[in-house]
Order: sequence, then structure tokens, then C-alpha cells
Amino acid sequence: MKPIQMVDLVGQYEKIKPEVDVAVQGIMGSAAFIGGPEVKAFENELSEFIGVKNTIACANGTDALQIAMMALGLERGDEVITASFTFVATVEVVALLGITPVFADVLPGTFNLDPADVERKITPRTKAIIPVHLFGQTADMDAIMAIAEMHGLFVIEDNAQAIGAVYTRKDGTQRKSGSIGHIASTSFFPSKNLGCYGDGGALFTNDDELAKKVRRICNHGSDTRYYHEVVGVNSRLDAMQAAILRIKLKHLSEYDAARNAAATFYDNAFKDLKDISIPERSPNSTHVFHQYTLKVTGGHRDGLKKHLEDRGIPAMIYYPVPCHLQSAYKTAQFPEGSLPITEKLTLEVLSLPMSTELENDQLTHITNAVKSFFQ
Ligand SMILES: *Cc1c(COP(=O)(O)O)cnc(C)c1O
Repeated sequence: MKPIQMVDLVGQYEKIKPEVDVAVQGIMGSAAFIGGPEVKAFENELSEFIGVKNTIACANGTDALQIAMMALGLERGDEVITASFTFVATVEVVALLGITPVFADVLPGTFNLDPADVERKITPRTKAIIPVHLFGQTADMDAIMAIAEMHGLFVIEDNAQAIGAVYTRKDGTQRKSGSIGHIASTSFFPSKNLGCYGDGGALFTNDDELAKKVRRICNHGSDTRYYHEVVGVNSRLDAMQAAILRIKLKHLSEYDAARNAAATFYDNAFKDLKDISIPERSPNSTHVFHQYTLKVTGGHRDGLKKHLEDRGIPAMIYYPVPCHLQSAYKTAQFPEGSLPITEKLTLEVLSLPMSTELENDQLTHITNAVKSFFQ
């Protein structure tokens, strides 16, 4: 059996090595290192895949969120409602812009924003909602879009973990995550479902005017070189990363299928274990399993994690401390106990190894190890 890792990026690279190596060599010879035709081509291909009019590549998924809020004109004093049960980037950029993060609780089954709690948290200062499509499935976008419309709010989808997930709307139409809100962000961090070999990110929007603003902000607030209309940032994708992403985008459906096969293997092994809940599937979204995350009850989570690690199996807690209890983001508005589902989840969640390269003997070893803990 090959050693088990949380994510096997080398194994994945080896399968596409000839294509990737040729593409990288091509970039070295072209001397077009940042932006340029490779990035343009990737943006177009990704727009087609997502089913959105505009894709704007940038330097990483954190920048993408920040740029989305800048392009929407959000300002100091505005409030943005988002999840506390998320990777910190979402909240970090809200705070960085002087905007007030307001936390809504999540649903205990899907781990995604609870629309009813979002609605309760709306005030006259609320300007936007950021649903995070956590672990690979889309938040309840019909409900969130309806709330946003009723209150005149923007919706920014944080699609860093769910690229490729398909959401079925109330009217039966199917949309990819990242194409439903006013604007969306994603990340190409190496371990993401569509990951490059460095940092990368992108924004999606169907609004051409908004897309123009995004491009301007990414490029030092400038449409014409050395003329600066607005305050911007420097956030660009390397051509080399774009070339690699073009190759990986072609494999994305096959990668999703591999992740789903591993998830099904896990599900079947764990479905009768009393203290384990397998990941609940949202009724409206497919799951692309950025993470396969169990809920371990009965106070057994940390013991199980140790049991697995002792058997050479890495397991991770995403996320051990919710944003509202982090030193950097603690406020009187959200003391301990203010987001009960979020806080309970941080004590119960455990993510198992998940990648496109998990083999049956590895999966068997992992599931046997989990089962042996409960025997
Ligand atoms: C990874 C991630 C980000 C940030 O992306 P980077 O490319 O690492 O900056 C933002 N939000 C979520 C939910 C993420 O998982």
C-alpha cells in the first residue's frame, strides 16, 4: 500500500506529467509570464465550464474575495453576513476593508449557511451576503438569493471549495456553483479541487460592468497603463499557472468522479456506526467532496483522530476554532455560545483523506481503522 496522505498531489501530477511539462516548457520559451494569451484562454475555458459570462483570473482566492467587495463598492461601516464556520480568508478580507463581519450560523447537516439565521442578522447597514460553499456542495442559493432580492443585498459566492458543483434551482434549471450570485470567487490553491502549482484565484460574474471594475481593480485601478481611475491592487495569475490549470480543467469531471467514488466507499463503510454521521447531501446540490467530513459524536472525535494517526492515517479538523472565537475577530456581538451549531461542529467534525488518487487498499485500511476504533 502507498503511504496515505490527506491529498496526493504528486500522484495526480504523475498522471498528467507529459502534458504539464510540455506546457510549462512552452511558457518558459514564450517569456510571457504574467497575463497574456494563456491566461485569456484559461479565463474563456473556465467561463464556459462554469456557465458564466466573465471570468477574471487573479493571484489567489483571498484576493478574489477582497476584489469582489471592492468592485461592489462596499465600504467601512457596511455589514456583510457570512459564516463563522469557514476558512478565515472569507472573514479576513471583510475586516481588512473595514467592513463589519456579521456571522450567521450554519445548518448542522450540510455545514452551509442557514438562510433563516442570515435573515435574522440583517440590519439597515447590511450590504452583502457571502455564502461559502463549504467542503464541496453549494449553499441553499434559492433561499439566499430570495433574501438578498427582498432586502436589496449583493451575494458573493465563496466558491473556493465547490468548483464544479451543480445546483438545481427551484425552477428546475441547473447552474454551476459560482454562477448564481452577483459575483463569485474561487481559489486555485494546490489542494483545491482545481488546483495549480502555486497560488491562483478567479472571479466570476454575469454582469459586464462589474467585470470591468474587477479587471481595473486587479490591475492597479487602471484601464490604460499609467492612468489610475480608482485605488486598486496588484493581483494577477501567472501564465504558467494558467497553462497548468487549462490541462487540469479538462480532467476536472474525472477528478470529481474519483472523489465521489472515494466518498461512496467511506459512506458504505460507516453508515451503520452509531457515533458517526456521514456527510449529508444537500437536496439541491451535487457534492464535489473537497473534503469528506464526518461528524463524530459521543466525545470520540479527538480519540478517533489519534487512533487513525497511530495507524499512519492523517485526519484533519476543518475547522477547530470558528472565526467568531478567533483572537483576531472576537467581538462583543458574538461571544461564545452565540453560534451554537457552528460551535458544536468544531467539536465534532473530522475530515478523512480525500483526493483523486485514493486506491482501494488505502480506503480499506482507512475504513477498517475507523471501524476498529469503535469495536
Ligand atoms: C482556500 C479558501 C480561500 C482562500 O483561497 P487562497 O487561494 O488560499 O487565498 C477562501 N475561502 C475558502 C472557503 C477557502 O477554502
